[in-house]
Amino acid sequence: MQFRDLKRQYEHLKTQIDDGMAEVITSASFISGPQVRALEEQLAAYVGVKHCITCANGTDAISIALEAWGIGPGDAVFVPDFTFFSTGECPAAAGATTIFVDVRRDTYNMDPAALETAIEEVLAEGKVRPKVVIAVDLFGLPADYERICDVCKKYGLLLLEDGAQGFGGSITNHLGHERKACSFGDISTTSFFPAKPLGCYGDGGAIFTDNDEWATLCRSIAVHGKDMEHQDDPMAKYNNLRIGRNSRLDTLQAAVLLAKLRAFQDEELAAVNRVAEHYTELLDGSGLMLPEVAPGYYSSWAQYTVQLPDGVDRDAVQTQMKQAGIPTMVYYVKPMHLQGAFAGTRSAQAHCPVTEDLCGRVLCLPMHPYLTEEEVAEVVRVLKECMD
Ligand SMILES: *Cc1c(COP(=O)(O)O)cnc(C)c1O
Repeated sequence: MQFRDLKRQYEHLKTQIDDGMAEVITSASFISGPQVRALEEQLAAYVGVKHCITCANGTDAISIALEAWGIGPGDAVFVPDFTFFSTGECPAAAGATTIFVDVRRDTYNMDPAALETAIEEVLAEGKVRPKVVIAVDLFGLPADYERICDVCKKYGLLLLEDGAQGFGGSITNHLGHERKACSFGDISTTSFFPAKPLGCYGDGGAIFTDNDEWATLCRSIAVHGKDMEHQDDPMAKYNNLRIGRNSRLDTLQAAVLLAKLRAFQDEELAAVNRVAEHYTELLDGSGLMLPEVAPGYYSSWAQYTVQLPDGVDRDAVQTQMKQAGIPTMVYYVKPMHLQGAFAGTRSAQAHCPVTEDLCGRVLCLPMHPYLTEEEVAEVVRVLKECMD
């Protein structure tokens, strides 16, 4: 069994993907081919925002957004302590101070109350200025944007949604109005790393925003600071307005994503939700803490993560499951504030007891749209055996 079976996905989508890639190779438009723009238009329409700017990966997407906002030394950026390293790395790479915030045990996402406490602490210290909150849609579930947006408004902070794992998720409010993940931030970002909910065949990422000015800035930063507004003018083609970087999504990846986006919308998103429901049904009463999706929330299930009860040896469970042919993973083993990269900095001074506890007991089970009911039942059978 595979943890995330990309080979099985390819078997299902082979014709569309092969045709799409062959078209790019035949046309030899490897950089900025028409597929890139077509993908950006489809992604923006799907998410329901005005602008989508593709780029080289999800880490660059975060960094480019922070750069567009001019975030740097003296600024504080609030990031959940339980996430992939990028989320905390990007503000630090920009010279800003990453402040880690604890998460909720039931959703694995940023705790809005802990966020407010962390902001108050930073204000009381008076050393760095609160500027940005980066909320992460961990494991596919959108963060609590209603409350996080309130906190951002109260303190005048910008909201960046790190939707690297969240693409395809959504929140429907009490009026029945649905908003998709990657539309909640002032700027939102995602990653097309192969194992993410929507993945390409290499690295890729995207930036989403309704703001025209930020969109133009991000597009320019991603292509050497070029003057992107006058691209049809031959004189302006080599006009560089600012120091940027090279962060493009190449045309082959765009072609793969165009084929995969169709399957994602038509089948895969519903399929992962069926797999998750099946896990939850079969694991009910097992003594494990199961992932919860609050009313109105919809997850794209980047991971199905359970919490082992006290006294269960996680290493032993993983070894035993591996021997039975079932791969498992631990996301994440270490709280961000305890990562060596932050040792001795303000970022290491975080009070995140929930994250510290979660790191010791989470376990991620095989999860992808092509997992069969029999395979889910097999994972559950072996896992229950390991816990006896
Ligand atoms: C994967 C991931 C990223 C980084 O994406 P890359 O495309 O690998 O650079 C950022 N944030 C989170 C939460 C992620 O899971």
